[in-house]
Amino acid sequence: MARYTGAVCKLCRREGEKLYLKGERCYTGKCSIGRRAYAPGQHGQARKKLSEYGIQLREKQKLRRIYGVLERQFEGYFLIAERKKGITGENLLQVLESRLDNIIYRIGLGVSRKEARQLVRHGHFTVNGRKVNIPSYLVKPGDVVAVKESSLSSDKIKQNLEFAAGHNIPEWIEYDPNNHVAKIKALPRREQLDIPVQEHLIVELYSR
Ligand code: SF4
Repeated sequence: MARYTGAVCKLCRREGEKLYLKGERCYTGKCSIGRRAYAPGQHGQARKKLSEYGIQLREKQKLRRIYGVLERQFEGYFLIAERKKGITGENLLQVLESRLDNIIYRIGLGVSRKEARQLVRHGHFTVNGRKVNIPSYLVKPGDVVAVKESSLSSDKIKQNLEFAAGHNIPEWIEYDPNNHVAKIKALPRREQLDIPVQEHLIVELYSR
């Protein structure tokens, strides 16, 4: 599966804000946004007035980068969101939030979505009792995500379980820290999400 392998801090600098793609480093003085708050590249410091299309495009790129999704897959998520009842922009966020790697990140078992994705790929989790190693797997309300029994002895998982102990779990997920089991109570409403995008601009972009 193709993925972005470049420097992730450049992605934040391109969007002009913190996207929290690197885990712990994002909360320290080492964050590149604090030190070089301009876009990367030769013309990064030049002031540019964005067109309406440019603004919409930047919102889409920002959302795509937050979840670490490539263009084609993002378009697929948009089609799913469009077909669902309700507001397309909110549906799009719900679909992205349903990804298994995002759920692992939300319960604090990955310090970043990128790390969560890697842990999923390594087969450390089950969904409804069955091993799932596909980061893009979409969970549904009622699904139960758990750490695989045999993975509890892994040093990385042990370390992340400690990290997860002090983590704020979103209210749409019920997490049992003793048994390392998370139940998806419902898909999140817009006001429950801390994603800094104006999703209606993305809908407008795809409606062109
Ligand atoms: Fe973005 Fe984190 Fe890098 Fe800061 S440290 S630029 S928030 S990925």
